[in-house]
Amino acid sequence: MLTIGLTGGIGSGKSAAADAFRALGINVVDADWAARVVVQPGQPALADIAAHFGAEILLENGALDRAKLRGLVFESAGERTWLEALLHPLIREEIVRALAASTSPYAILESPLLIESGQYRLVDRICVVDVPENLQVERASNRDQSDPEGIRKIIAAQIPREERLAKADDILDNSGDLAALQAQIEPLHQRYLKLATTD
Ligand code: ADP
Repeated sequence: MLTIGLTGGIGSGKSAAADAFRALGINVVDADWAARVVVQPGQPALADIAAHFGAEILLENGALDRAKLRGLVFESAGERTWLEALLHPLIREEIVRALAASTSPYAILESPLLIESGQYRLVDRICVVDVPENLQVERASNRDQSDPEGIRKIIAAQIPREERLAKADDILDNSGDLAALQAQIEPLHQRYLKLATTD
C-alpha cells in the first residue's frame, strides 16, 4: 500500500495537515502516539527504562515521567543513544502494525522525526510541511504557551530546514493561512490517489 511520510519541524503545521488528510478519509498513523504506546505501564520497555534510570523515572501511578526522561536524554548524548536503541525498533513495530491495519486508499505516517529516526524507510514518499523559522517559533510558542527560546532549542536539535527540504518529494508551504494549506492538500490528495491505484 502507498504510504506517505508527513514531516516538518516543530510548529510547521504537521497536525494541521494531518487533520486535513483525515477529513479526506485518509488513515493517519501518528509516530508520537506509537512512541507513547511502547512505554505504557505493562510494556517491557518501561521496565527496562526503570531498571536503567532508577525508579525515580516513574511517576507515583507507575507511568513514565516523560518530562524527567526528556531532561535526562537532552543532557546526555550517551543516554539518548541508549534510549533510542531500545525504543526505535519497538516504535517501528507499532507503526508497521498500525499502517498494516489502515483501510484507506493510501496511508500517512505523521512523524516529526521521520528523517532523523530512520522512519522514512517505512514510506514511499516524503511530504514536508514547511514554514520559515520565525513562524515555527511564533506558532509553536503560542500553541504550547512556552517561551520562544525553548522552541528555538528544539528547532536546533532537529534536522536543519534545508536538509529536510532536500529529502522532500512533495512540499506543503504553510506560510499562509489554513485555507491556503487546505488548497495545496486537495490536489496532493488527488495525486496520491492516482499513485495509489497505479502502485
Ligand atoms: P506541528 O504539528 O508541526 O508541531 P501544528 O499543526 O500543531 O504543528 O501547528 C502549530 C500551531 O500553529 C497550531 O496551534 C496550529 O493550530 C497553528 N497553525 C498551523 N497552521 C497554521 C496556519 N496556516 N495559519 C495559522 N495557524 C496555523
